[in-house]
Amino acid sequence: MSIKREIERLRAELPAGVKLLAVSKFHPVEALREAYDAGQRAFGESRPQELKAKQAVLPDDIEWHMIGHLQTNKVKYIAPYVHLIESLDSERLAEAIEKEAAKCDRTIDCLLEIHVTAEESKSGWDYARLKEFVQGGGFDAMPHIRLRGVMGMATFTDDETTVRGDFQRLKECFDELKKYFGAEFDTLSMGMSDDYPIAIEYGTTEVRIGSTIFGAREY
Ligand SMILES: *Cc1c(COP(=O)(O)O)cnc(C)c1O
Repeated sequence: MSIKREIERLRAELPAGVKLLAVSKFHPVEALREAYDAGQRAFGESRPQELKAKQAVLPDDIEWHMIGHLQTNKVKYIAPYVHLIESLDSERLAEAIEKEAAKCDRTIDCLLEIHVTAEESKSGWDYARLKEFVQGGGFDAMPHIRLRGVMGMATFTDDETTVRGDFQRLKECFDELKKYFGAEFDTLSMGMSDDYPIAIEYGTTEVRIGSTIFGAREY
């Protein structure tokens, strides 16, 4: 399957209102260019330095999404141009983004990554802690961060019931936070190559798809 054919197939399959993010981490610039030539403009990367290197050589009208765990000292690599930071997962990171965004005189759109699985390894806010932070006005003093929604991952398992439960939970968190943040809070990013059809049933607005488009990653 070519990159172009996969993108066209996905585009035809996704319902209106579900955005396709092409997750290009670990794939070479040539692969991204092929996707770009097929009309793809939104790309997701997980490492800030890799994102920066690709941004430097690819066209300016690409929307770069940061989807991987972001260390506070690396925000500076992406702050000047990143379109959406999907992995805002802690107070400390929020503070770092606020600071770097202010330096660039930008307001950076971010998603709150929420941890809903029983897996230890996955990053993201504990929802109770996040709610406490939000209700305590934690984001009020961060004018350079604009919260646009929620990002999350389902458990890595073949058990569909578990995956459904995870997406259901993310949707509930999103709905509850949306009441607090209002109309701008419009993005629910969930669903990857193996589980995006289920995420669609639970109201995702953005699917993050890597291996289905670009093939297996070589780490
Ligand atoms: C790698 C990654 C994806 C894409 O995964 P695929 O299974 O290759 O589609 C999506 N979201 C996040 C956060 C990722 O790290």
